[in-house]
Amino acid sequence: MRLIFMGPPGAGKGTQAKIICNEKNIPQISTGDILRSAIQNGTEMGLKAKKFMDAGDLVPDEVVIGIIKDRLKENDCKNGFLLDGFPRTIEQAKALDVLLSDMSISLQHVLNLAVPDNELLSRLLERAKIEGRADDNEETIKNRLLNYNKKTLPLLDYYKNSGLLREINGLGSVDQITNIIRETLK
Ligand code: AMP
Repeated sequence: MRLIFMGPPGAGKGTQAKIICNEKNIPQISTGDILRSAIQNGTEMGLKAKKFMDAGDLVPDEVVIGIIKDRLKENDCKNGFLLDGFPRTIEQAKALDVLLSDMSISLQHVLNLAVPDNELLSRLLERAKIEGRADDNEETIKNRLLNYNKKTLPLLDYYKNSGLLREINGLGSVDQITNIIRETLK
């Protein structure tokens, strides 16, 4: 199964992605996780990405497109994959279309977890306390939400037009939302 999980920061994409990937036995490909590990390993890509991430800005398209291009070629993607946090711009979505068509495969579902902005802000501030992520402070969070609304929201129409979009209400318990996702993927 080849899936995309979309949704604003704090919508619970990562949590749900982990559960679904376990159940379907497919890799969870999170560009955010890959970038954070590049920063930790001090790679050139990590150094380049860090200033964007710390400010709550999007990392340039060519960097994340390059990450996905390499990652999708790996063996564990043969049975499918779940993209978590990619694409985030129309440019990225178009590049993904080209990549997939070159590989002669296509997406099955694009799930969007919808949560209102005021709920996201309080969830993200709470997560900041627990996880201590460098980009989970109030100013950066507001910028991430702004970027999401400006650059990523237009993608919903892009996938609606291709008939792949499945809207999921992201308000509720983790279990409730997992169940809705399971039903949607059936
Ligand atoms: P995430 O863990 O998905 O919230 O991503 C954390 C940060 O990594 C984002 O705020 C961006 O700075 C960067 N990032 C992750 N994925 C992408 C992407 N697809 N395009 C651009 N920047 C990204």
